[in-house]
Amino acid sequence: MIIKFTNFSDGIHSLEFTETAEKLNLGSDFFDDVLLNCEMDKSSWQIVLSCDVDAKAKLVCDRCNKEYNKEIHHDFKMIYMVEKGEITEEDTNIHYLSPDQDKIDLSEDVKELTLLALPMKHLCDENCKGLCPKCGKDLNEGPCDCKNDDVNPIWEPLLKLKDKLNN
Ligand SMILES: [Zn+2]
Ligand SMILES: [Zn+2]
Repeated sequence: MIIKFTNFSDGIHSLEFTETAEKLNLGSDFFDDVLLNCEMDKSSWQIVLSCDVDAKAKLVCDRCNKEYNKEIHHDFKMIYMVEKGEITEEDTNIHYLSPDQDKIDLSEDVKELTLLALPMKHLCDENCKGLCPKCGKDLNEGPCDCKNDDVNPIWEPLLKLKDKLNN
């Protein structure tokens, strides 16, 4: 995911990159290829990159513990300033190009932003019913035989402990 921008004329260019999740060091949650589509607006004083990222993650559902695949899609904008100006504020989206620099390597930014795009909550489905806290049956496959007396979630760890002691 390296752009040798000195090879491009001023103006707008479309760029496409493919890299494996493994080579990007995205960790074991990700698999397959990561696609990066960028529009580069190049001028003599700056380079603006508007990019889309598509990645695939294998996640474990928080409710039913099943593994599922999720498409992770996010976009970002980066500005690379050619002119050496004062960095007045810490803006992560602005980079400064040194005079001898002729390439932009997006790999590290793509990696970090893709990791940030992972949802905090992992749900195989918005409506996942999860597992029965008593018998552990996957309720997405159908109801279990447990009596429907709602277990107060506060007592769940204690009930689990009791189950362990009884076994
Ligand atoms: Zn689930
Ligand atoms: Zn049950």
